[in-house]
Amino acid sequence: MSAGANWAGSHTYSAPAFVEPTSVDELQQIVASTDHVRALGSRHSFNDLADTPGTLIGTSKLPHSVEVIDEDTIAVAPWMKYGEIASALKPLGLALHNLASLPHISVAGAIATGTHGSGDRNSNLANAVAGLTFITADGSIRELQPVDDEFDGAVVSIGALGVLTSVSLDVEPAFEVRQDLWEGLSWDALLANLDTVTAAAYSVSVFTTWVGESAGTVWLKQTVPGRVRGELFDATRAAVDLHPLPEIDASPTTQQRGVPGLWSDRLPHFRMEFTPSNGEEIQTEYLVPRVNAVAALTAVRSLADRIEPLLLISELRTMQADSLWLSGAYDTDCLNIHFTWKRMPAEVAAILPTIEELLLPLGARPHWGKWFAAGHASLKPLYPRFDDFRALALEWDPTGKFRNEYLARTLDLS
Ligand SMILES: Cc1cc2nc3c(=O)[nH]c(=O)nc-3n(C[C@H](O)[C@H](O)[C@H](O)COP(=O)(O)OP(=O)(O)OC[C@H]3O[C@@H](n4cnc5c(N)ncnc54)[C@H](O)[C@@H]3O)c2cc1C
Repeated sequence: MSAGANWAGSHTYSAPAFVEPTSVDELQQIVASTDHVRALGSRHSFNDLADTPGTLIGTSKLPHSVEVIDEDTIAVAPWMKYGEIASALKPLGLALHNLASLPHISVAGAIATGTHGSGDRNSNLANAVAGLTFITADGSIRELQPVDDEFDGAVVSIGALGVLTSVSLDVEPAFEVRQDLWEGLSWDALLANLDTVTAAAYSVSVFTTWVGESAGTVWLKQTVPGRVRGELFDATRAAVDLHPLPEIDASPTTQQRGVPGLWSDRLPHFRMEFTPSNGEEIQTEYLVPRVNAVAALTAVRSLADRIEPLLLISELRTMQADSLWLSGAYDTDCLNIHFTWKRMPAEVAAILPTIEELLLPLGARPHWGKWFAAGHASLKPLYPRFDDFRALALEWDPTGKFRNEYLARTLDLS
C-alpha cells in the first residue's frame, strides 16, 4: 500500500511500503525488523522530511491516551492531535502554554520540527516537553528526562533518533483568552514600534502581503484578565470577523471581536472542525534572531513586487529563546517570517534562494517542516549545536535506519 501525499499535496511520499500498526507492540516490531523506517504524524509538513526509502509508518490507528502524571505534567500518545489533547484537558481544568495556528497537527510531528505559535514570552511547542519515550533503531525503548544530557538534542529531532511512543508535556491551570483584530497598521508604525506591537498581547500575529503602505492586520490574543489595548498606533479595530487570507469567509476561524474563551478555542487561528488555511498552498518560514528583526522585514519588503504574485499571505510571529539544539529559537528570541504561497512549486522554489540570500546572513533559520532551499553547508553555521546533533543521530542510529534524503541534504546525515 502506498502512503499517498501530505496534507497540502505538495509531496507524494516515495516510501515503497506503508503500514498502519494498531498497537505499540506491533509498532516496536516493525521498527526492530525493518532496515529503513520513519513515522508519519498528521502529514502537515510541506516537504519530504517524513519520507523514507523503506517503510513509512502511519500512526492514525494507534491507541490514544492522555494520562495525568501530576498537577504540572501529562503523558500523551504523541500521534494525538493538539485539538484532541485540549479536549481531554478541558474537564481537568488544565492547559498547554501555547498552540500553533491550527489544532490539527500531531504532538510528535510538531515537536520534531520546532513548531510554534506566537508570543514574546512563549517558547515553541517543543519547550513544553517534559519527557520522551523512543523506540530506537535496534527496537529497544529509551526514555529521556530534562536532566539527561541528550534531552535538549532529542526534542526537536526531525525523526532522526527513533519513533516516539510517549511524550510528557508541561501543563498549567486553564486560562481564558480574547482575540481582537486591528486593521491597517502602517509599515512605518510597525517598523518604528515593532517591540511594542509584538508585546501588545500574550500572542501576536501580523498578517501582511508586503506591498503598499499598510503592513496589514494585527491579531492580538490576550489573556483574560489582561491589559486590552484601546489603540494600536494608526490601526483601527476590526468591526467584522476576518480570515487570515484576504477576502475569504471567516467561519473556519476561532472567535474574534473580544469574546473571551478557553485558551484552546482562541490561541489557534482555526477551529478543529474546519479545514485550516487554504489547502492549495505551500509554506515557508524563517526564524530570525530578534536583534535583526527590522533588518529582515526591510529586506523582505524590498522583494515585495516579486513575492506578492506568488503569495496568499505572510504571517509575522515571535518566539522566546530556548536551549533545544535544533530549535529555530536556540539561544535567541525570534521574529518568525512566514509565507503561505499559492501552489506554484516552480516559482516558489525559484524565489527561495533570493529570500535566503538576504535572510540567512541575518541568522535566519528555516522552519524544518516547510519549504526552504538551504543545504547543510548553509545551515551548519546557523546552529551552534549542529555537529552535536549529528553525533547524537549517528550514535543512536548507527545503520541509518531513520535517515532519508532530507537528512542527507540538510544535516549531512546519510
Ligand atoms: C495549514 C498549516 C498550518 C501550519 N501552522 C503552523 C504554525 O502555526 N506554526 C508552525 O510552526 N508550523 C505550522 N505548520 C507546520 C506544521 O506544524 C509542521 O510541519 C509539523 O511538523 C506538522 O506536524 P505533523 O504531525 O503533520 O507531522 P508530519 O508532517 O507528519 O511529520 C513531521 C516530522 O515528524 C516526524 N514524526 C511524526 N511522528 C513521529 C513519531 N511518532 N516519532 C518520531 N518522529 C515522528 C516525521 O517523521 C517527520 O520527520 C502548519 C502546517 C499546515 C499544513
